[in-house]
Amino acid sequence: MADEKQNERMEKLVSLCKRRGFIFPASEIYGGLNGFWDYGPMGAELKRNIKNAWWHDMVIDRPIGPDGQEVSIVGLDSAIIQNPRTWEASGHLAGFTDPMVDCKECKARFRADQVFVLGWISEPELRRFNEEVRVLFIPEGESLSQIDTEEVERLLKHEVRRAPKPYLKSVVASEAGEAERNCKLSSREAKHLGKTFPMKPYRLTDFVVTFANRLPPAPCPGCGKEGCLTSPRQFNMMFKTFVGASEDSASAAYLRPETAQGIFNNYLNVLNTSRVKVPFGIAQVGKAFRNEINPRNYTFRSREFEQMELEFFVPPDKGREWYEFWRSQRIEWYKKHGLRSDHLRPREQGKDELAHYSSACTDIEYLFPFSDEPQELEGVAHRGCYDLSRHQEFSGKDMSFFDDEAWLADQPKFADKSKEEQTKIKNAEPYRYIPHVIEPSAGVDRFTLAVLCEAYTEDQAPDEKGVMQTRVVMKIHPRLAPIKVAVFPLVRKDGMPEIATELYGRLKRRWVCDYDEKSAVGRRYRRHDEIGTPFCVTVDGQTKEDGTVTIRERDSMTQTRVKLEETEAWIAERLTV
Ligand code: ATP
Repeated sequence: MADEKQNERMEKLVSLCKRRGFIFPASEIYGGLNGFWDYGPMGAELKRNIKNAWWHDMVIDRPIGPDGQEVSIVGLDSAIIQNPRTWEASGHLAGFTDPMVDCKECKARFRADQVFVLGWISEPELRRFNEEVRVLFIPEGESLSQIDTEEVERLLKHEVRRAPKPYLKSVVASEAGEAERNCKLSSREAKHLGKTFPMKPYRLTDFVVTFANRLPPAPCPGCGKEGCLTSPRQFNMMFKTFVGASEDSASAAYLRPETAQGIFNNYLNVLNTSRVKVPFGIAQVGKAFRNEINPRNYTFRSREFEQMELEFFVPPDKGREWYEFWRSQRIEWYKKHGLRSDHLRPREQGKDELAHYSSACTDIEYLFPFSDEPQELEGVAHRGCYDLSRHQEFSGKDMSFFDDEAWLADQPKFADKSKEEQTKIKNAEPYRYIPHVIEPSAGVDRFTLAVLCEAYTEDQAPDEKGVMQTRVVMKIHPRLAPIKVAVFPLVRKDGMPEIATELYGRLKRRWVCDYDEKSAVGRRYRRHDEIGTPFCVTVDGQTKEDGTVTIRERDSMTQTRVKLEETEAWIAERLTV
């Protein structure tokens, strides 16, 4: 839990975001909707700048890769609703399904396995429940309900904890049926169990659901009351909808829980139509939806959010090199946009936390004021060939990449081999392979929140009368600031508004600008400090005399006199990154 000071800081930030038009609760006039947020005029600009900065640095002005060449990345904008087979292949239909229990007292909802099993198994193991179908074996002929309560407890306490041990085996399967078909115990495992073949597999989550009522009664983790939890029921975090007029299972579809799968679905299209070859990346920015059980921490865990995802396809033997490249690129990107390095923590996931298909993953975490522990902003994962292999399996389309240049260069080496042998060599690594994927996957809303948290500053500054007052200033990186320049006439007379309007008209062609002639100039400065405008330009009495204006810098509050005609260049120099 964050301490009181941090909580107070968070409260102040939330109130500023409301007051200044950064973030509003979604559909607030109807009481809002838990887990949904709307971005106001300032928030919309800030978010747009974040997405543009990412897109610019990924797709337009691409970095130099570890091989000294500019990396190859193209953009994509895929549909939110994809063919539902997509989610079977990706594992989301099975893996995103959790048994849930509701508390009848406090109305909170929890994952059943967490309520009943937590304490017996470790958190990382629990996390893996989401990503793998864990299968429990019981002798064929017995059904789950025949196992007595003591045996259930023994299984949970001992077998689940020390998986894969007798009875329990983790398998890659997107659905229970598939697990049953594909998952068999080896005879060595069966012997180890002391059981005779055949054994029947069950999904571990089904097991928890089946036995929930026979497990020791668990108190509600929210309100602590006993006996108020409902029986578990299956709950998928994907939002379901129906395509077309009828609402039957054949027309069921899902709002995407991540943008990545739209990229994999288009991998062949892009490969065949763009002039790219492995290694290359496909970048996408867009909405994702997850019916989070417990949306919390302001916008941090929402049910509708945006992602900026890159799927970078590499030769299998170059995976580690590219993984390390993207990890450091992404950390530097956050630092470049103003996140302090002591608030940023790259956390390499331990072996026990990794998804079964992933060989490495780093969570880039940020220390938000609402928590003592840094929280995930972005995950950079080495996903192996899992995604493309799965889509190849489910779609029947060949996802392999053939490196014709490498083959042509090497072919003479195999001239003495038979045609058959040559074909065999040609169709195997390093010439033909399913590319491995490095995935830097970032949350737009989480980075937006991090920028806001980092920017919130209180300092002391003199007011109109020279009395020191607390000044609230949002020190947002200039590249991301919603408004870049504000133009004021000092007073609404003596030709000042005319000069200021003309200057504003010129600057707004280039940047998002604000023109303000109402209230005292000090109050105008305060307002722009609170929305993070880096520069305020004031046209005053001296402007008419010597053709100069005052430019005030947000953070230092220093004021510089600059020639009217040099204003644009002066600002441009300081806004470039
Ligand atoms: P978490 O463990 O926090 O639920 P995750 O590991 O499930 O996150 P990914 O599936 O890796 O997240 O998604 C990539 C990124 O998308 C995350 O790093 C995060 O920035 C963002 N993201 C994921 N879920 C949410 C959410 N509910 N609200 C806002 N952003 C999210």
